[in-house]
Amino acid sequence: MIQLRLGRRLEALRDHLHAFAADELRPRARAADLTGRVEPEVIARLGALAGERSEVLSEAAEPGEDGARADGMVAVVAAEELAWGDAAMILNIPGPGLAGPSIAGSGTPEQKERFLDRVFDGTAPRFGALAVTEAQAGSDVSNVQTTALLDGDGWVLSGTKVFCTNGARADVLVVNATLDVAAGRSGQKLFVVLKGTPGMRVGKIERKLGLTASETAELVFDGCRLPFDHLVGGEAALAAPSGFKGTMRAFDASRPGVAAMALGIGRAAFEYAAAWSATEIPAHSRRRPLVEARLGAVERELAAARVLCRRAAWMADHRIANSKEASMAKAYAPRVALAACVSAIEIMGPEGSSREHLVEKWFRDIKVYDIFEGTGQIQRVIIGRHILGRLE
Ligand SMILES: Cc1cc2nc3c(=O)[nH]c(=O)nc-3n(C[C@H](O)[C@H](O)[C@H](O)COP(=O)(O)OP(=O)(O)OC[C@H]3O[C@@H](n4cnc5c(N)ncnc54)[C@H](O)[C@@H]3O)c2cc1C
Repeated sequence: MIQLRLGRRLEALRDHLHAFAADELRPRARAADLTGRVEPEVIARLGALAGERSEVLSEAAEPGEDGARADGMVAVVAAEELAWGDAAMILNIPGPGLAGPSIAGSGTPEQKERFLDRVFDGTAPRFGALAVTEAQAGSDVSNVQTTALLDGDGWVLSGTKVFCTNGARADVLVVNATLDVAAGRSGQKLFVVLKGTPGMRVGKIERKLGLTASETAELVFDGCRLPFDHLVGGEAALAAPSGFKGTMRAFDASRPGVAAMALGIGRAAFEYAAAWSATEIPAHSRRRPLVEARLGAVERELAAARVLCRRAAWMADHRIANSKEASMAKAYAPRVALAACVSAIEIMGPEGSSREHLVEKWFRDIKVYDIFEGTGQIQRVIIGRHILGRLE
């Protein structure tokens, strides 16, 4: 039976990460937003927190009574708490990032060891990234035009990827490219490109509405040569139906966590507005009942989003197909978190738009969460397909 209660170990993890978020992230959030950078010592601390050495993280994921590891639950609990601290700074956590699920889910055992260990070699903060989006292929991943041609004993990658989180500094980059543009999604495969590979260069760095402390890059591949064994899944991947499925599997694994980050931003705005209201709106004020009703509605929606995130994560941990549930969490959480930010700004009146408070920053940050990892509209399309597919 589905278990949404956290249990002792996950509660300890949540409390540990909450203290980190409150002490290390929240106080630095405004400076990071204004400068667009996260101090190297904070990156090092984020790395130590997420790395293998963090006993709390690995302990929390150990198999429970039903024998399943709780890695997905750990991810959603951690994402909510850390994003409550600052959602932009945590996109600077060293580690495999979005390259992780692609390599872990579709790579050969040798590739998992070689490429994932490279990100965890412990010598310096290292990053992974996933480059799928192109100017004409965001929601419609089947329209990817970046090509991978077999040439002698290796591959030649050509094309341009846009809006890649941590793309400029990625040590291990997973790129979605096609062997045959005319074949649409069935021609696509995943490739690993290591930092410094000739033929790959960083284009523009985006200046964004929100999440300004997270780097988002354009990446250009111009005759970029890769060894044959950088094809994710190895030779067997050539016979497999498509790398597109690998990309989608990776999204099923990562969407609950991304949704939980959105939830963390919404909760931050909700708690801030509630605390502000408690001190700034007198108990006898005629505004008070209206604000109470509004806060009540926001809390209810955030609680529902938390259930959706945990359900999708629990299913992943129990090896139950969770594509629809991951999309439900991703469709819902950013939307209600955006509503929480709007409510916070409106409850606080003009002060809500002031840089004296973080509420206006959360409002800018949250919008992006409704865009990346598949927009809200696309999640609703996926859910609809599952519903009708079941009836066919
Ligand atoms: C800050 C940031 C970081 C990102 N990081 C990464 C990353 O690390 N790696 C990566 O590969 N990409 C990344 N992206 C790209 C992101 O995943 C895409 O922007 C997203 O998938 C949407 O694609 P698009 O921008 O091409 O929009 P489009 O696909 O052009 O969509 C435009 C609008 O049309 C709507 N729409 C499109 N098709 C449909 C449909 N069939 N039905 C209903 N509505 C539809 C969309 O919902 C959207 O509102 C990032 C984006 C941002 C903003």
